Amino acid sequence: MQGLMQQWPLLCHKIIDHAARQHGAREIVSRSVEGPIVRTTYREARERALKVAQRLSRDGYKRGDRIGTLAWNTARHLEAWYGIMGMGGVYHTLNPRLFPDQIAWIMNHAEDRCLFVDLTFMPLVEKIAPSVPSLEKVIVLTDAAHMPQTALPNVVAYEEWLAEADGDFAWVETDENEACGMCYTSGTTGDPKGVVYSHRSNVLHAMIACMPDAMGISSRDVILPVVPMFHANAWGLAQSAPMIGAKLVMPGGKMDGASIYEMLDTEKVTFTAAVPTVWLMLLQYLEETGKKLPYLKKVVIGGSACPRAMTEKFQKNYDVDVIHAWGMTEMSPLGTLGTIKPEYADLEGDALLDVKEKQGYAPFGVEMKVTDDENRDRPWDGKTFGRLKVRGPAVASSYYGGAGAEQFDAEGWFDTGDVAHIDSHGYMQITDRAKDVIKSGGEWISTIDLENLAVGHPDVAEAAVIGVAHPKWDERPLLVVVRKPGKEPTREAILDYMKGRCAKWWLPDDVVFVSEIPHTATGKIQKTTLRDQFRDYRLP
Ligand code: ADP
Repeated sequence: MQGLMQQWPLLCHKIIDHAARQHGAREIVSRSVEGPIVRTTYREARERALKVAQRLSRDGYKRGDRIGTLAWNTARHLEAWYGIMGMGGVYHTLNPRLFPDQIAWIMNHAEDRCLFVDLTFMPLVEKIAPSVPSLEKVIVLTDAAHMPQTALPNVVAYEEWLAEADGDFAWVETDENEACGMCYTSGTTGDPKGVVYSHRSNVLHAMIACMPDAMGISSRDVILPVVPMFHANAWGLAQSAPMIGAKLVMPGGKMDGASIYEMLDTEKVTFTAAVPTVWLMLLQYLEETGKKLPYLKKVVIGGSACPRAMTEKFQKNYDVDVIHAWGMTEMSPLGTLGTIKPEYADLEGDALLDVKEKQGYAPFGVEMKVTDDENRDRPWDGKTFGRLKVRGPAVASSYYGGAGAEQFDAEGWFDTGDVAHIDSHGYMQITDRAKDVIKSGGEWISTIDLENLAVGHPDVAEAAVIGVAHPKWDERPLLVVVRKPGKEPTREAILDYMKGRCAKWWLPDDVVFVSEIPHTATGKIQKTTLRDQFRDYRLP
């Protein structure tokens, strides 16, 4: 027997329609790339998105076409997004922090036909456009007065281009499973891989993100997504905020402590989200100036592990609740969030920080498990770790073009490449990347745990742990240390410090001192380089 309910396809333009209808006067405040603060509303954003859709169709773009965006978080970027999706197109957010060759590779792979670009990135576009033959048009997100000189053909100013439309356009009604967006993983291993979002996955993800025990946001919130739209959909906020009618504050290209503080304070922001690096800058600024955060209630921190000291500072010094979150581009991106279940409701101090240090639990719509190398489930005991696998309606089922097929299994599980354990309450903690974990005599050793332990030594500035070949155990841990300036800790002193704080057989076999540890473009330790460097290292 069939249910007798209406078919109401989950299409992204319904989000901006709803925002305009129910929260039309609610503001979107942007720090524009040209400088001044610009105020608009959901009603205006929808009107302008309709114009974008109309203009794109008139220019000959059609359903399924990939349209790139190389832009900061601003109202213009948001309108362009909804316009692209509303004409049946596929927005393709590009990360300007990648190398130009990588951006060109990604645009060619996706066959982007058109590109919306911020003024900031015009020199970059001039460099890469000649090597992207599919690119027909560049729309600069500015007005005629600010248009730069360029030798590129077919470059127009967004405001002029938009002014030729009247917005009398009907959203293209596609199937909810059609593509609406694309984002490539950063490709730290091999070529970048394309994740293709559908209207359905984006709408469901936005609904999941709003739930009280996920991000827990409402129409009364003022939301500042510091996390860029090119970093996994601004963690869904570009869709969740209009879905509930929250005021949206867009930081543009300025993410230093003073600029973020200014937006938080003048716009009375209650909720914000970004990677730990951004919050380090803000906390430093607050400490230097003695300023406080009277309006901010909640901050979501993810992308890499949120240090315990950061959570503590936000909570103790500023009365701001930290929600540690884990996710991936492939998951739209939310995977787990560290909100507090009733069994932990009375925890305080260190006991609460212990829970907050974990990456949290999965909301409805995300299933997860940890398995061993033979794909057998590992217990949820908070210590046995394994490969973290996930599935759900907003999790990728494959990559664009079929790359990385080995990460997806027949039962729909996606192998995240992360290594984690899950406790009996469902809280997950990342212990490593699968490619970094050390396998010693068939047992796994977490390099992240050892690194965290080593940096606890007062004379250690930075530490990295890698596996080095061992005749008996296959692999054993080697600790690579950068000393603090003016300090001379010995190998023995560091190992003595670690003894008793980790399992005996986890203790690194040796310690080497270096002046610098290599990092990736996103600030993560570059273990591949380290492994190459110490490939022939002989353990004692
Ligand atoms: P990028 O590496 O470019 O940021 P993603 O955002 O997709 O791309 O990165 C996802 C990966 O980032 C995860 O697989 C995980 O390794 C790491 N990660 C994300 N959030 C956390 C977190 N809270 N703690 C530890 N690692 C995290």
